[in-house]
This record gives sequence, structure tokens and C-alpha cells, in this order.
Amino acid sequence: MSSIPMARPMCEDIGRISVSEVLIMTKKERNAFLSEMGVCTHCGKRMAAKDHKLCLSCLDMHKIIYEQRKADCKLWYQTHKEEMKAIRKEKYHARKDKGLCVTCGKKAIEGMVRCEKCRRIYNTERRRNYGRERSRQSC
Ligand SMILES: [Zn+2]
Ligand SMILES: [Zn+2]
Repeated sequence: MSSIPMARPMCEDIGRISVSEVLIMTKKERNAFLSEMGVCTHCGKRMAAKDHKLCLSCLDMHKIIYEQRKADCKLWYQTHKEEMKAIRKEKYHARKDKGLCVTCGKKAIEGMVRCEKCRRIYNTERRRNYGRERSRQSC
């Protein structure tokens, strides 16, 4: 969240650092300093929650933003699902027709739809998914 001003005078809250010191700190340094002090790195005011870098109210806020973003994302994908599928399919066939790797667009192995690198990745992925399927069945 870059909207938090760097020059926030945190000295009264923390009591160990002067305003000028806060001013010259980079965001990363500031965060490291705050988390070391056990202070929320977001608001720089309240104490951070246990095992977290944020205070409880900032954690709550982040959770709300995160959930909202996730919901937005899901909605977007749902509304554009068919469109995306069509684009992907089109791209797939266009590349395949040209003898290019359908994943990355580089030259594919002859008689294959993928290049060496993507084929390997694809095979490992598939094997992993297969393993997952199997382990799901066994429970
Ligand atoms: Zn906070
Ligand atoms: Zn490729």
C-alpha cells in the first residue's frame, strides 16, 4: 500500500526513532524496522498481532480487500470464461498449424504440438495431476 506516507511521524508511537530517521528510511527499511519493533508495518501505529506483521485491524482490512479482490477476479473469469476459452483455442490451432509450440510459440518438435521444454513441463504436470487423482481415489 503505497498510499501510506513515508513521512508519518511514528516517533510518538514508537518512541525510539526520530521523524528525520523515518524520512530517510526506504519503505523496506521501515517495514523491517517496524516488524522488529513488533509494530504493524501497514499503519505504523498499533502493535502487530502475534506471528504477523500487521495489527489486528489492518489484518482485518487486508482480509476484506483480499476477499473482495478474489471475488472480483472470480466474477471476471466467470463472465469471460467462454471468450477466454475461444481465444485459447484459436491460439492453440493457429500455432499448431504453423508447427509452433502451442504453449510458448517457439518452434515445436516435428510431429508434436510442443517444444522440448514445454513438453517436459507438460508431462511433469500431467504426471503430478495423475498422482493427485490417484491419491484422491484412495481415500
Ligand atoms: Zn495496523
Ligand atoms: Zn514451448
